[in-house]
Amino acid sequence: MAVWVFTDTHDGAPSAGALEMLTKARSLSASVAVFAVGTLDEAGAGALAEHGAQTIFQMDAGDQLAAPAAALALETLINEHQPEIVLFGMETTDRDTAGRLSARIDRPVLANATEISNDGPVVVTNEILGGIKRVVTSFEGEGVALIVTRSKAFTAEPGGSGSTVTTTIETPETGIVATVTERHVEESEGPDLEAAAIVVAGGRGVGEEKFSLMDELAEQLGAAVGASRAVVDAGWVPYSYQVGQTGKTVKPDVYIACGISGAMQHVVGMKDSGTIIAINKDEEAPIFGIADLGIVGDVHTVVPALIEALQARS
Ligand SMILES: Cc1cc2nc3c(=O)[nH]c(=O)nc-3n(C[C@H](O)[C@H](O)[C@H](O)COP(=O)(O)OP(=O)(O)OC[C@H]3O[C@@H](n4cnc5c(N)ncnc54)[C@H](O)[C@@H]3O)c2cc1C
Repeated sequence: MAVWVFTDTHDGAPSAGALEMLTKARSLSASVAVFAVGTLDEAGAGALAEHGAQTIFQMDAGDQLAAPAAALALETLINEHQPEIVLFGMETTDRDTAGRLSARIDRPVLANATEISNDGPVVVTNEILGGIKRVVTSFEGEGVALIVTRSKAFTAEPGGSGSTVTTTIETPETGIVATVTERHVEESEGPDLEAAAIVVAGGRGVGEEKFSLMDELAEQLGAAVGASRAVVDAGWVPYSYQVGQTGKTVKPDVYIACGISGAMQHVVGMKDSGTIIAINKDEEAPIFGIADLGIVGDVHTVVPALIEALQARS
């Protein structure tokens, strides 16, 4: 039975999560389709095809709030095609649509999935309590399984035939009129935090005045800068920097945590990084429990020394 992937679009491109979900979808079914809200350009549709989408249903709601119409359109398509699973990402429109669709078709949504299997019934694993407990839940009864997946739970890898058929779906009339009046894209410099190979993250221990050390170290490494919530709450950096349960989930090759204690709500957003390096003056700091390399020391001494050493090499 088919597995479908939901995606919103941004400037013609699908979400990064859609490519991750498609990779998982391919392992669950030989029949994979995408439901895309908005307009995909050639490169965007091509990326979906390269990651295994055989069919793309595309619905452009224009300036309308997309989720009500997307849920109604999906209900009609699900009744017609009977897919086994629809996967959603963590983006706002994904979650909004999943909830509305669940109410429409009376099927539950399992959220925050980190693993999915369908050898028998559809089984979803998710993590709770900041990732210290795993919960395995099985869908019961007839009908589609609606699953919201955790970002970075699956790694996007190209595969599949690379060709796809796009069907345009007319935006259905829902009677719910809400218009998106403005979209704001936060300006940022350097690599994208969620896609960067190296992340330099600062916590309260770095201090507001010295937080620019994070930028300097990141510049030397070609890294993105992240932060703990304590730093964001203090207003030192914008929310878009926040890593953790209520921020971004990152999975870089190298994560350098500077002056971060390692609270579970932070760790859940970075624990799957390839190599974790922690710099903290408290040798009992919980971050050392998950670090591959720990430096017990003052960030104000260690980080400038690192920057100097890197500058000397370049
Ligand atoms: C519902 C909920 C959601 C949350 N979501 C998130 C989230 O998404 N992301 C997140 O990060 N947090 C989140 N938190 C907050 C989390 O619990 C912690 O409070 C936060 O992560 C602490 O940030 P911190 O490690 O920077 O600060 P602190 O806990 O204050 O730790 C600072 C660390 O710096 C070290 N230090 C101090 N000075 C130096 C120095 N000169 N050199 C070296 N080390 C030094 C200290 O030893 C300490 O370990 C959430 C909390 C709740 C309740």
